[in-house]
Amino acid sequence: MLSKVVIANRGEIALRILRACRELGIKTVAVHSEADRDLKHVRLADESVCIGPAPSDQSYLNVPAIISAAEVTDAVAIHPGYGFLSENADFAERVEDSGFIFIGPKPESIRTMGDKVAAIEAMKEAGVPCVPGSDGPLGDDPETNAKLAKKIGYPIIIKAAGGGGGRGMRVVHTEATLQNSIALTKQEAGTFFGNSMVYMEKYLEHPRHVEIQVLSDGQGNAIHLGERDCSMQRRNQKVVEEAPAPGITEEQRQRIGQRCVDACVKMNYRGAGTFEFLYEDGEFYFIEMNTRVQVEHPVTEMITGVDIIKEQLYIASGEPLRYQQSDIVIRGHAIECRLNAEHAKTFMPSPGKIDRYHPPGGPGIRIDTHIYGGYTVPPHYDSMIGKLIAYGNDREVAIARMLGALDEISITGIETNIELHKEIIGDPNFQAGGTNIHYLEKKLGL
Ligand code: ADP
Repeated sequence: MLSKVVIANRGEIALRILRACRELGIKTVAVHSEADRDLKHVRLADESVCIGPAPSDQSYLNVPAIISAAEVTDAVAIHPGYGFLSENADFAERVEDSGFIFIGPKPESIRTMGDKVAAIEAMKEAGVPCVPGSDGPLGDDPETNAKLAKKIGYPIIIKAAGGGGGRGMRVVHTEATLQNSIALTKQEAGTFFGNSMVYMEKYLEHPRHVEIQVLSDGQGNAIHLGERDCSMQRRNQKVVEEAPAPGITEEQRQRIGQRCVDACVKMNYRGAGTFEFLYEDGEFYFIEMNTRVQVEHPVTEMITGVDIIKEQLYIASGEPLRYQQSDIVIRGHAIECRLNAEHAKTFMPSPGKIDRYHPPGGPGIRIDTHIYGGYTVPPHYDSMIGKLIAYGNDREVAIARMLGALDEISITGIETNIELHKEIIGDPNFQAGGTNIHYLEKKLGL
C-alpha cells in the first residue's frame, strides 16, 4: 500500500480522502492555501504544507508548489480530488515525471476524455451509444453544415470540443440561425477554452441525466457500480443525486454498464471514472466521461458497500481490482443533497462564520462535511460546504429519512440552501421519480 499521500484539494473531499487514507494506514499531507489553515482535514493530517495565498491559481492550481510539497514530505502519491487539477492531463504528467504516483488515470486518458470530439470517437469505437451528431469537428463550409443539421434533425446543439462547466453550447432550432450560431460558438470556444473546435449533436428536449460509475485497474480488469440519476440541476449544476436511478431495470443497468466496462478495458483505463449519459425514451446517449471521483460518489457507496476512494488508493498502489462484477450487488436506495453556503432563493454565495452547527443523525444518515461551529467559510472557493446523504431499504424510506435530516440539521451564521432541498425532496414529482434535467429550473420559474 502507499505509504504517504498528498491531498491536493480542500473542503469535504479532502477530509473524505484523509478518512480513507487513515483506514488504510496511509500517512497524509494536507496542502492548503493561507485562507484554509482552519480546515478540518488540515488539523487532522499527519503533516500540512501551506502552498500559497487564497486565490486558487496561486495555491490549489499551483503545480510546482504542490509537487515540492510532495518532495519535502517524502510522499509517494498525490490525490487530486475533484475540480482544481483533477482533470488536468499536464498536471498528471508532471506528477508522474517527478516520480510520484498520480491517483487517477494515465495522462493520455485524461487528455482524450478532455476533448469531447476525441472522447465520442473513442466511445463509438468501444460500442458505447452516443447522441446522433456530426461525428467529428464542424468544417467551414455552410452548405455541408446545413445538410448535416438537416440530416440530424432540428433542434440541434453546437458544442465546444474543449468545453466544460456547462459553457460553450448553443441550441439551434431552425436553419435560419445555424451559420451564425456555429460562428458564435466557435468564437466563444476559442476565447474560453483556447480551442475553437466545435461539433454538432441532436438536441434532446426532455432527457434525464443518468451516469455510470466505473472502477478499472489499468491491468485489464474493470467493473461498474451501477448508475446514478443527477437530473435535478440548476444551470447544468447538480443539486440532488440518487442511486439507483428510478425506473432503470436491472437488464438496462447491466447492458449499459457492460458497455462502459468494455470501454474501460479497451482504453486500458486506470482508476475511478464516470460515464455521463442523457437518458430519453428508454435510450442512453453518452455525453462525456469524468476521469476522477465525483461529488456524488457517496450514493453509489451506500447502495453497493464499495468505498470508492479506498479503491482508488488500492488501484494507485498497483493492486489488481479487488472486486469482480458478480460481487457488486445493489441494495436499497440513497439520495444526496449538496449543501451550499448560499441564499436559498437568490443563490448568491453566503460566506462567513458559522455560529452553530448541529448535524443530523439516525439510521441511514451520512454527512460528508468539513464544517464545524466557529468555522469561517472563505469567499474564495466553491460554495459547497458539505453533502447530506440518506439511505434506506427503498426510495420511500430514503426520502423520509432525508426529510427528517433536513429538518434536524441546523447551520446558523450563514445562509444555506437547506430550505431549497426541503422543497425539492418534498416535491410530489420528485417523489414520483424520473423528473428530467429541466424540471428544477421550471419549478423555480427560471
Ligand atoms: P459540460 O462538460 O460543460 O458539463 P456536457 O456535455 O456534460 O458539458 O453537457 C452539460 C449539459 O448540457 C448536459 O447535462 C445537458 O443538460 C446539456 N446538454 C449537452 N448536450 C446535450 C444534448 N445533445 N441535448 C440536450 N442537452 C444537452
